Amino acid sequence: MKVARFHAPGDIRVEDAPEPVAGPGELKIRVRNCSTCGTDVKIFKHGHHHIRPPRVMGHEIAGEVVGTGERVQVIAAIPCGTCEECRRGRRTVCPNQESMGYHYDGGFAEYMVIPAKVRAVDGVNAIPPGVGFAEASVAEPLACVLNGQSLARVGAGDDVVVMGAGPIGCLHVRLARARGAARVFLVDVNAERLAMAADLVRPDAVVDTDAVDQVLKLTGGRGADVVITAAASGAAQEQALRMAARQARISFFGGLPKDAPIIALDSNLVHYRELTIVGANGSSPAHNAEALQLIAEGLVPVADLITHRLPLSQVLDGIDLVSRGAAIKVTIEP
Ligand SMILES: [Zn+2]
Ligand SMILES: [Zn+2]
Repeated sequence: MKVARFHAPGDIRVEDAPEPVAGPGELKIRVRNCSTCGTDVKIFKHGHHHIRPPRVMGHEIAGEVVGTGERVQVIAAIPCGTCEECRRGRRTVCPNQESMGYHYDGGFAEYMVIPAKVRAVDGVNAIPPGVGFAEASVAEPLACVLNGQSLARVGAGDDVVVMGAGPIGCLHVRLARARGAARVFLVDVNAERLAMAADLVRPDAVVDTDAVDQVLKLTGGRGADVVITAAASGAAQEQALRMAARQARISFFGGLPKDAPIIALDSNLVHYRELTIVGANGSSPAHNAEALQLIAEGLVPVADLITHRLPLSQVLDGIDLVSRGAAIKVTIEP
């Protein structure tokens, strides 16, 4: 079969590999869609400390169980299920977390094997009728977005700012609407990408320059109730604090580059305005199941966000599209 393997930074090869064999407790699937995201770009350029090459990449996985034909979606982040955090229900911050496409071969392959530990934490979800494989593959990033918005308590009547108009930003806009946000504003410094995203998700306003001033103007000087940074930008995080309303919640959804994780923030804004800053680290198996439901019920449509469908042989073109910001969602069809 064909797979796309990471060998070293800048070196991903589409090559032949033997079909994997499922051991006890494992599940073999025929991958139908595995979508790409910014993380794949990061891995391609810099590698990842959890990836020991060669490794089949791809973590946004949907396919058919070999033998039964059951249509399934698979989690990306695998909590251990037994540590103190997992027992307290905090599965997104399990210190023993492993990931598909990192510790285990992922979905950029015709066939793959789902490890027993994924099944043990309910990490394999039946795809509801009416939901296609490509849509189902987007349940994983939507699950991460769901985790972020539940930590930031996005709810009815909130004015929400989403900074970053990539696929994750688009999902944030859609989910905020589904959760009853009053208005959603989309910010990006790349005017072209912002226009492409706005065309699809129709925010109440778009902002491409002077983000803080513009958001204050749009909110009558009050600021936003929730600000979500869906970009690997310290500047965006600093701006987020300055455009936040009193008692606002700020989600540092996107992580910062490892070599530049320090930002400057006015701690008195947090103190006097009673701001809450939250992080977001992937998603739990339960978030994945809930995300699939949101897609199935039409509460968060994702089909129109999938702008490119490519065969496995073009996985590098897909990663390039994502890295240039020239696509919303790129999915690979092995
Ligand atoms: Zn991803
Ligand atoms: Zn754990």
